[in-house]
Amino acid sequence: MTMQQTSYLVDTPEQYSVTEVTEVFPATEIDDRYPQYQALSGVRKWIRYAWYPMIDLISVMGTIAAIASFERQGISWIDLGILLFMFNFVGLAGEAGMHRLFAHKSYKVIKPLRILLAVAGSMTGESPILEYVAYHRRHHIYADQQGDPHTPYYIDAEQPLSRIRNIWHSFFGWKYNSKTSQMAAPEKYAKDLLAEPAMVIINNSFYGIVLASFVLPALLGLVLTGTVAGAWTAFLWGGCFRFLVMTLMGDLIIRAGCHLFGTRPFIDQANSHSGNIWFLAIPSLGLAWHNNHHAFPGSALLNIDWWQIDPSGSFISLLEKLGWATNVKRPTPEQVKAKRLN
Ligand SMILES: [Zn+2]
Ligand SMILES: [Zn+2]
Repeated sequence: MTMQQTSYLVDTPEQYSVTEVTEVFPATEIDDRYPQYQALSGVRKWIRYAWYPMIDLISVMGTIAAIASFERQGISWIDLGILLFMFNFVGLAGEAGMHRLFAHKSYKVIKPLRILLAVAGSMTGESPILEYVAYHRRHHIYADQQGDPHTPYYIDAEQPLSRIRNIWHSFFGWKYNSKTSQMAAPEKYAKDLLAEPAMVIINNSFYGIVLASFVLPALLGLVLTGTVAGAWTAFLWGGCFRFLVMTLMGDLIIRAGCHLFGTRPFIDQANSHSGNIWFLAIPSLGLAWHNNHHAFPGSALLNIDWWQIDPSGSFISLLEKLGWATNVKRPTPEQVKAKRLN
């Protein structure tokens, strides 16, 4: 194999049109009867405003306690196992599920798995699923232009400290900005999921699901060690530390970093600044192939060259082999070649 060949597809029976692999999601699903903006109001707004600082503070405090316990006694194999399980369970559901399945519809899965991916993916704590999908679709449509809710180019470069303020906006600030925090109405951008009662229930259970992602490792620790101390350290590592690492990876390193840095081998229709950062491929579970993704948002697999590793894409391919996933979209070598910049 040469560097120019793609890593998959050679024997793939299904072929998808260039529209299918390059569209953010089927355009017919934008509901033009609704406005772009959706305002949260009343109690819902204040709960939302208080939620993110609260859950982030819990994860930071827990991480400090985890590091303190590490200095005293290291980390047990059980806690390490729970941490790795939680990171992969929630991370794959977030990237393969919330992102590629729900936001981009890049493949299909059997119903029970769809529910599991939506619940476990919500444990990333990013946003309730309907909002996440609406915001993410909008991010692609307006990528790094005016209208992208969390672009790290939001503040004019001429303004003082614009680089730092833009990174903060992309990471956290956009959720509290009166404009960008209400930019994407699910009625307009996610009507497919709004029509699915299970998704509405999962969306409305967001806070409870995120809290459950802290309780689950504690329960695993309790069962596996039979001690309250074992439950506590599992909570610190598999709950708090895992949550903080995932938040920093998804919200800061990828959302801001992959639009500021990285290589750009492909033409991106929306003309974004998306870049590939190879050394983040594994910890980001594949999302760091961000230029590949913005070039082919409809593709379920983000690794294009043979040497690129995409853990979430491998997970989707495994589901396909097991017969649990179908219609797995990926570009043909010709489609890849047509978009490659030299
Ligand atoms: Zn992006
Ligand atoms: Zn995307």
